Amino acid sequence: MSVTARKVLRCPVCRSIEIYRAARGLYATLYHCRQCGYQGAFILECDEDAGSV
Ligand SMILES: [Zn+2]
Repeated sequence: MSVTARKVLRCPVCRSIEIYRAARGLYATLYHCRQCGYQGAFILECDEDAGSV
């Protein structure tokens, strides 16, 4: 059993992977979506190979 699956961050609003860290708070990291402008600590984590839309 190998654990080589990479995780990608996805925007919960538009499912874009254009996600970057906006800031790091005391308890959570804030993310920012370049696609739709979403900003928040909640982000989707998906397997990189899950390439079905
Ligand atoms: Zn988005």
